[in-house]
Amino acid sequence: MRTDNGSMPTPSLSRSDFANALVDKSVLLSDLANDARVRPDVLAKVKSDGDLDHDGAISGDDEVKAAFTAIDAFDHDGNRLTVTDSPAQNAARALIEKAKAVVPNGNADDATVAACAKFLLNSPNVSFWTGLSTGSDRKNLERLANGEKARVPAKGTEVMPKLKMMQALVAMAKNGPIMINALTGGSHSPNSNHYLGIAVDLDIHRGSTSQIVAIAARFGGKRNFEQDHIHLDF
Ligand SMILES: [Zn+2]
Repeated sequence: MRTDNGSMPTPSLSRSDFANALVDKSVLLSDLANDARVRPDVLAKVKSDGDLDHDGAISGDDEVKAAFTAIDAFDHDGNRLTVTDSPAQNAARALIEKAKAVVPNGNADDATVAACAKFLLNSPNVSFWTGLSTGSDRKNLERLANGEKARVPAKGTEVMPKLKMMQALVAMAKNGPIMINALTGGSHSPNSNHYLGIAVDLDIHRGSTSQIVAIAARFGGKRNFEQDHIHLDF
């Protein structure tokens, strides 16, 4: 029913409708950053409270519920199972709209960090440098494929690498050969992005450097100054 000023009354969005719309789907936080409907403070809260495994995406039942709770903090309808106010509801609807299907066991081979790791381990185009000081990072890819975090031997910590970086590696491997010199393993400069899961080193003599750098750019990756290997920050 229309109101006098011609606008429709805004219905609420329930947590169950939100969760149902996101079953077997994944929402990249970077996609939301470019969406005017998602206020930066709402996005920051979804990122800090909703992305439980810190892979840069909201996916899976637990993260979807946590994201809804994060969004509900900006809602004042007095019901934690619905969002009504526009900053909250617009953000929730943007998440639903930006969601992409995740096909379990299959075709969406880059929808999650684990799926990317599995793809890379099985790709004949991907090799791992065995000369890395902390041992080949193949074992970190195996941890990631199992849904575990990667180890950072230099810091004694663990980290979930950024999904965009993993997706870039998948895209590179689909395009041609790559050798992964170091992901989170090895020793780098003290505050290296490798230790944060947002940098990767590739062998300069494997595959096409210009194509690798161009593919990285599509995923937000940028090469640094180093010349004897391809260091990419994401
Ligand atoms: Zn590096």
